[in-house]
Amino acid sequence: MPDRFAERVLDWFAEHGRHDLPWQENPTPYRVWVSEIMLQQTQVGTVIPYFERFMQFFPTLEALADATLDDVLKHWSGLGYYARARNLHRTAQVVRDDHGGEFPVSFDEVVALPGIGRSTAGAILALSRNERHAILDGNVKRVLARYHAVPGWPGKSSVAKQLWEHAERHTPSEDVARYTQAMMDLGATVCTRTNPACVACPLETDCLARGEGRETAYPGKRTNKEKPRRRTCMVLALHEGAVYMERRPPAGIWGGLWSFPEVDAAEDVDEWCRSVLDVTPHRLERLAPVQHSFTHYDLEIEPIAVRVLAQSRKVTEADGACWQRLDDERSFGLAAPVTRLLDTLKIDTRKEEHEHVANG
Ligand code: SF4
Repeated sequence: MPDRFAERVLDWFAEHGRHDLPWQENPTPYRVWVSEIMLQQTQVGTVIPYFERFMQFFPTLEALADATLDDVLKHWSGLGYYARARNLHRTAQVVRDDHGGEFPVSFDEVVALPGIGRSTAGAILALSRNERHAILDGNVKRVLARYHAVPGWPGKSSVAKQLWEHAERHTPSEDVARYTQAMMDLGATVCTRTNPACVACPLETDCLARGEGRETAYPGKRTNKEKPRRRTCMVLALHEGAVYMERRPPAGIWGGLWSFPEVDAAEDVDEWCRSVLDVTPHRLERLAPVQHSFTHYDLEIEPIAVRVLAQSRKVTEADGACWQRLDDERSFGLAAPVTRLLDTLKIDTRKEEHEHVANG
């Protein structure tokens, strides 16, 4: 007995869905792919200006593949979760080198690309080619978990398996692009995380969670232990209005972004200055700690500002290190806490200059 699930969702979409998103215009696999990666963990409203700027700088897959990682990270800076940008860049190069610059169109080839999972591969092919593939992003998981009252945390494979089965079953064989967008929109605008607008939902009449009056009990939460907490010390070596920065290795947290060098503890700063910069530190100052939360742990950064009397180590960006002038516009990608620290340094330096002038 058909439940008219897709039909109801499509009817709702015609009237209430989003039809003017920038990636819906000329939805090539390249544009849809970039938008899908940006939309992972980030809301549509935040993504739109980033997407438009990104497309201006990298209008084609080739342009993205040929760009430097620094340029890509710079245009990603602020969106967070930088592994996505690195994967995007790497994937563009794989497509350029192994697929003759044409984004592949077979599901197996798409899902084999770096940073593209089953749901993203399905969304790219459904939205750009109207091919029948199910998707299960965060919004769709929520709608289906509620509609079918599927208990448990969707990160658990047995729960994910049930949700995928539902997703596959409901996906229509025609009008897949519109259906895919409709499900994303329904989850984002009606079946929202905390306060679903069930009265406006086309699935209300037979939604099991609604029937139970327990809409927000689904999807189940992860039974979570406390996130571990890590600490690190960052050295902010200052010399005449410039601060020493290094590019982080490509893998690991903030990979490829520019940051301050790290040491294990404040006691190591002295030694670091002598061995890396080959200078004697002049004045050490502990700044207020900065907290940063990752998905799997919380990080506390203890920043240590240290004045050095000379820039004895001459470095260039090509060495993966530089003396960044505090009054210069930044031209490379930075992690969010590093941006905050740079801003603090700027303010402190201005204050010092002001006091200097005031004291004659
Ligand atoms: Fe979500 Fe409510 Fe619609 Fe069920 S009826 S799918 S809980 S918005």
